Amino acid sequence: MVELILAADIGGTVIRVAIADLQGHILEKASTLVPKGPDARAVPLKVLELCDALSTKYGGRRSISKVSIAAIGPLDMTKGAIVRPANMPYDVVPIMDVLCNYFDATFILLNDCNAAVIAEKRAGAGKYVDDVVYITISSGIGGGAILDGKLILGKDGNAAEIGHTVVDMNIGMVCGCGKKGHWEAYCGGNSMPKFAKFLAENKYNNINSTLARRLREGTYNISAKDIFDYARCGDEFALIFIDTISEINGAGVANVVDAFDPSIISIGGSVALNNVDLVVDKLKPFVEQYALNRVPEIVPTPLGHDAPLIGAILAAIDPPPKSVFKTL
Ligand SMILES: [Zn+2]
Repeated sequence: MVELILAADIGGTVIRVAIADLQGHILEKASTLVPKGPDARAVPLKVLELCDALSTKYGGRRSISKVSIAAIGPLDMTKGAIVRPANMPYDVVPIMDVLCNYFDATFILLNDCNAAVIAEKRAGAGKYVDDVVYITISSGIGGGAILDGKLILGKDGNAAEIGHTVVDMNIGMVCGCGKKGHWEAYCGGNSMPKFAKFLAENKYNNINSTLARRLREGTYNISAKDIFDYARCGDEFALIFIDTISEINGAGVANVVDAFDPSIISIGGSVALNNVDLVVDKLKPFVEQYALNRVPEIVPTPLGHDAPLIGAILAAIDPPPKSVFKTL
């Protein structure tokens, strides 16, 4: 029977799943929203459901010899679980506990940005350099770094959790992780409406803006996408807000430049990729303003929304250290 890879990218909002052959060619692909219940097991069970739908014509689950999962952090590699994620309504998401029951396979687990930076190094913007950093600006903000050709992991495998570095100690917006002042609490897609509401109420309360007025009434029906849409329509407060988060994004990326000194930074994630002009292009001048180190090339990832998924497939073929959870 044919041997296949099941790869999944479990993000804060979307789960992407692919079936690939052992050479890394994607045969089938699908995506769905992260289930909000009844409990955390629904997340890995959704991966299983998509796997079953995609693999039927290749022999189903029995054809899967490698299961490679790229997931939002933080990860607990001993448990094979996501623990206290900032952007999911669960305390612990038991990825491997569930999936191990359904496959006779080698299991690989990686932080989604570590997977994406592997993809970037082997097949994307970082192919010709030894030092590459991937940054996602999505529901949350995260990073992965390959320095001197080596993926950096740290003691718990959570190195480069850059979205939770501090960019402000005055306003103190509360992050999804519960702590204050983190980059993600200002510029992550899930946090943008809350930060915009704060500014609309406290700093720009006299501005003539439909967005500001709606935010003052509540944020329940306003998303990050709405804010970008208002900016494209010329809403004065939306434009000020985009300028404000561009400076914070620039400071965050400058921290990355000074901490890792990469040759290239590729930026992915839906907030950045759907708004390259308003996010990636507008943060660049601020990186120059804040970074001490020589600022490298900063590009939107050429791998698009699939960067973590492609990384999961490549990691299944040649697993990086500490990423193998269980072997056949
Ligand atoms: Zn945080």
